[in-house]
Amino acid sequence: MSIQFERVALIGIGLIGGSIARDIAALGLARQVVVSSRSPETLKRAEELGLGTEYVACAAEAVKDADLVIVSVPVGASGAVAEQIAGTLKPGAIVTDVGSTKTSVIAQMLPFMPPHVHFIPGHPIAGTEKSGPDAGFVGLFHGRWCILTPLPETDPAALAKLKTFWETLGSRVDEMDPPHHDKVLAIVSHLPHIIAYNIVGTADDLETVTESEVIKYSASGFRDFTRLAASDPTMWRDVCLHNKDAILEMLARFSEDLAYLQRAIRWGEGDKLFDLFTRTRAIRRSIVEAGQDVDAPDFGRHALDKK
Ligand code: NAP
Repeated sequence: MSIQFERVALIGIGLIGGSIARDIAALGLARQVVVSSRSPETLKRAEELGLGTEYVACAAEAVKDADLVIVSVPVGASGAVAEQIAGTLKPGAIVTDVGSTKTSVIAQMLPFMPPHVHFIPGHPIAGTEKSGPDAGFVGLFHGRWCILTPLPETDPAALAKLKTFWETLGSRVDEMDPPHHDKVLAIVSHLPHIIAYNIVGTADDLETVTESEVIKYSASGFRDFTRLAASDPTMWRDVCLHNKDAILEMLARFSEDLAYLQRAIRWGEGDKLFDLFTRTRAIRRSIVEAGQDVDAPDFGRHALDKK
């Protein structure tokens, strides 16, 4: 693979930043990779893992001379990071992020972006419930979508360069306007996480079911929610606070649909239940057909069950 950027600065080096770092190294996409993280522990760990070629505590220092800057921090921290790096960004640099919300990240970062850089917000639709530099791995973005939300003034050449970068990591790239991104992600990602946090919280609160029974019988459905509910609390607090309107809109619709389901169960309307459950099964099939999951029974967990 050929060099795409002389110098890349990775600001934030957890699951996402750490996976990008591993892919850049594996594919040889940059000559120098400067890694920066706010805590000495994470920076040290990134160095032990060999995720970059330089390790710099100060984000402003890290972005100096970088042709590509990727900000991978919780969305609530993006404004503060933008303010820190603004004064030292190289003219012509591409500055992007990976945050799960876009309208809020743009509102926080754009005011600090100097006119001589290309600010192109982005969001790879790939992840796990793990966090920190150890959680990253080569190939996280392979076969997944990456959404870029360019601004009206975005330079097409810079956009094409960033698009090529994500495509080299194996992603398919879509462009969206930021409010549309936030609406789509509210239903496909944010609502499922909130429901998972809620259901796991409810089970934890139930007094009639002992904790051991919840764990013991979890293979009947509950454990599928626990993966989502094990996701990073800081990241998800920030997502909820920074995509508030779209999430509240989806939650309102969800509550209405839940009330419909509740009524159908109360009045024994089996046909309504059957129709809904048939429709939802088809959605699962579409996800498998689109290559976004495998068709193994029970999400491929049979091997685990036999242990
Ligand atoms: P992570 O593994 O928890 O890593 C977070 C990184 O951000 C660490 O380097 C951490 O530094 C730094 N950080 C945390 N709080 C900060 C603050 N207040 N100021 C400056 N830096 C801070 O997180 P991640 O999963 O990689 O997520 C990073 C971003 O990617 C988030 O915006 C998230 O919405 C987005 N995203 C996540 C996923 C996912 O599945 N996890 C998927 C797509 C997009 P220290 O460790 O040094 O404190």
